[in-house]
Amino acid sequence: MNREGSEAAFAAAKRVIPGGVNSTVRAFKAVGGTPVFIRKAKGAYLTDVDGNRYLDYVLSWGPMIAGHAHPDVVDALRGAAERGTSYGTPTEYETELAELIVAAVPSVEKVRFCSSGTEATANAVRLARGFTGRDKFVKFEGCYHGSADPFLIAAGSSALTMGVPNSKGVPAGTARDTIIVPFNDAAAVRAAFERNPGEIAAVIVEPYVGNMGLVLPVPGFLHALRALTRDNGALLIFDEVMTGFRVAYGGVQAREGVLPDLTTLGKVIGGGLPVGAFGGSAEIMDRLTPDGDVFQAGTLSGNPIAMAAGLATLRLLSDATYVHLERLAMRLIDGMAEVFARRGVPHSTVAAGSMAGFFFADGPVTDLAGAKRADTALYGRFFHAMLDRGVYFAPSQFETAFLSLAHTQAEIDRTVAAADDALSEVLACR
Ligand SMILES: *Cc1c(COP(=O)(O)O)cnc(C)c1O
Repeated sequence: MNREGSEAAFAAAKRVIPGGVNSTVRAFKAVGGTPVFIRKAKGAYLTDVDGNRYLDYVLSWGPMIAGHAHPDVVDALRGAAERGTSYGTPTEYETELAELIVAAVPSVEKVRFCSSGTEATANAVRLARGFTGRDKFVKFEGCYHGSADPFLIAAGSSALTMGVPNSKGVPAGTARDTIIVPFNDAAAVRAAFERNPGEIAAVIVEPYVGNMGLVLPVPGFLHALRALTRDNGALLIFDEVMTGFRVAYGGVQAREGVLPDLTTLGKVIGGGLPVGAFGGSAEIMDRLTPDGDVFQAGTLSGNPIAMAAGLATLRLLSDATYVHLERLAMRLIDGMAEVFARRGVPHSTVAAGSMAGFFFADGPVTDLAGAKRADTALYGRFFHAMLDRGVYFAPSQFETAFLSLAHTQAEIDRTVAAADDALSEVLACR
């Protein structure tokens, strides 16, 4: 497959953009090689600058649940653009999208919009700190909550030690207030509360983790978090930026029947435009300015074009959507598991709603330590072999595959056949 255009584009980008990308994962560092520069997308397919087509399982890292350039979304965007792209005033579009979210997400009575998932989680933690009057919060190893300082803390080898920053530029003081524990380890959360009595404002969690590959909670884990936070006067924050309107119309909380105090959203609710949101009970949310004392603001927050894309996207979705998409996701992982088994590759697969995950490691994978056992070198070779066969999985073992309304059974079956072919090539030259 000729990718000279992408190579030239990457070289040009690197001269004026650090590393040639505006979000780190896009650079293909985890799999090697040159990132593919995309010129356009339609339905389930991307087309690169060289004219190659790829079946897309990344979907802009989650947002494009309707598929690319869905006619309803494009119409809504065109209409919105003709009415002006930003006013810096309240609009009725914001209320409309807020009403849809409040109706869908069980724990949310009021919601505030911002422009990214990163803003949503940063604001949710500030609100939890303001509401409780406490500074510390608990975060799980391998969960990703965007690129704000308090979340860029790696775990030490011991689960309950205070974190050290995993990026230069994160102050030690910030890191000290982030307590890192392993995912699916309720005992570690209990111990964190015992060691920091009256100091922990919140526990933030991706209730289904999509950012270390796809890792699901063990039975009882989310209920334990609910009980522990309630008993210790802390708030429970579900970061559903990825899972909201992705695993179920009402997110993980609707699927699992565990209600957090605060929920963060993004990705799907923006339909491919920059949107984030955070919501919860009126009691907590009313602590935000202008009525309360926890500040929040944004020049483009609730931008009318972004609201239009979100509204058009959510209107395409219903409970039935997720039954359909989960069937496709299951067909994908079952097909892949069969291929991996036939080729003798250790693997673990899982699906939830429109999310599908596979690790090149024996499963089940329940935490970051388990995920890290995966054969990332094999994943890198498999990724490139699939790319050469016109299938675009995430350029890292520690990400999730997404399905959209534009994916069909025929595309899933073609993917499985391509995986078989790709693996035979990859294993032959080992
Ligand atoms: C993508 C993601 C974020 C960050 O959202 P951005 O819009 O990239 O800032 C936060 N939390 C989770 C769970 C995510 O998947």
